[in-house]
Amino acid sequence: MLAIHGGTPVRGPRPWPVWPQYDARTETELLAALRSSRWSVSWYSPRGEKSRERLFAEAFARYHDAAYGVSVDHGSGALVIALEALGIGPGDEVIVPAMTWVAPATAVLRVGALPVLVDVDPDTGCLTAEHLRAAVSTRTKAVIVVHLACTTADLDALVAATRSAGLALIEDCSQSHGARWAGRTVGTFGDIGVFSLGAAKSLAAGEAGAAITDDPDLYQRMLMLRADSRGYTPEAPGVGEYELVEHGTVMGANYCMSELTAAVLLEQLTRLDDQHTLRETRAKELEAALPDIPGLAPIPVPAPVDRRAIYEYGIRFTPGTFGTATVDQVAAALTAELGTRIYPPRVPLHRSVLLRPHTKPRFAHWWTQAADRAAGRPFTGADHYREHTLLMHHSVLLGDRADVEDILTALDKVRTHAATLETKGKP
Ligand SMILES: *Cc1c(COP(=O)(O)O)cnc(C)c1O
Repeated sequence: MLAIHGGTPVRGPRPWPVWPQYDARTETELLAALRSSRWSVSWYSPRGEKSRERLFAEAFARYHDAAYGVSVDHGSGALVIALEALGIGPGDEVIVPAMTWVAPATAVLRVGALPVLVDVDPDTGCLTAEHLRAAVSTRTKAVIVVHLACTTADLDALVAATRSAGLALIEDCSQSHGARWAGRTVGTFGDIGVFSLGAAKSLAAGEAGAAITDDPDLYQRMLMLRADSRGYTPEAPGVGEYELVEHGTVMGANYCMSELTAAVLLEQLTRLDDQHTLRETRAKELEAALPDIPGLAPIPVPAPVDRRAIYEYGIRFTPGTFGTATVDQVAAALTAELGTRIYPPRVPLHRSVLLRPHTKPRFAHWWTQAADRAAGRPFTGADHYREHTLLMHHSVLLGDRADVEDILTALDKVRTHAATLETKGKP
């Protein structure tokens, strides 16, 4: 009997890996920041040193082989300053994939522009060049591509499509820290790469974000946009001096990252490569056995990807694999077997309750236009992805081989007993 119906779960009492991960080294870094008396980049430097958020921005850019990095408060904030740095505002349209977290769409609204939702590839959930081209209008200024879950959008095709149409490209790498396409780190193919460093992400600090770019002009603009029109002193500030200089070339707002957050991130960044390697080992083991279960397959990864980043590991199933049970029913049954959350992708943005611009007076006007433009456009790719994908958090792959066996056993058990879900498990 399935665990969800009172049967014995596949997984015994053995705990799953805990996320986020920290130890004495993290505590040392955090305490050092606490005791530095410098809790903000905006505060003066008691010891004449660069702020930790500046050091993190430099280290993060280096990690990605990008020329410049900017530390910010959130991934959402990084999206806003990226759009503003590119000069996007009222009257402009920005193409956003329908299958993603809501922030790329709300960021476009926050700069006064119109997010144009477009359909995605049904197997990867990522934006494609064909969908992009079909959505371009005379008002389109930029495209936000999201490298989703555990794969990468087709960067060759998207770079070619945006270049030929004269559009800016922002890569939202919030789910793909450190992924590499043909030897180059994602986030460096477009004009700006943006990252969330929120608690769930594979580089995590609770609430944080970052942007990278190779363009010195975009870098300077983003610095001012995120720190109330201020940039840095050229070198480390003197003892007792401020590190932020009032340039005022571009008016910004406060999207600054706390020094305590930056301390955690500087330490977490040193763990990222080992975590990538471990997750990849577990994912490969899972993928070696997955074809033995009829109807299941991993999310495809384009051939040029030489390092995949796993934020959420995804398994696709062909229609009928679990009878007529819905993806929500299958996910709930798997969660009961495993004692760790297995879940479907979020509802795509064209029907998400999170995207409700008409509830704010300043967005309502734009949203009427967006809704009109989206009306009647099919989102069959996004809907298929939503209804035929099972996701698990990347931390599930930070354990040992026995965890993989449990996942496979649970998948096979739920598939074999899917008929009981249809009769008993209707929500
Ligand atoms: C998490 C996430 C964000 C938002 O990041 P915050 O740090 O929570 O603001 C943006 N885009 C994508 C694709 C994300 O997954």
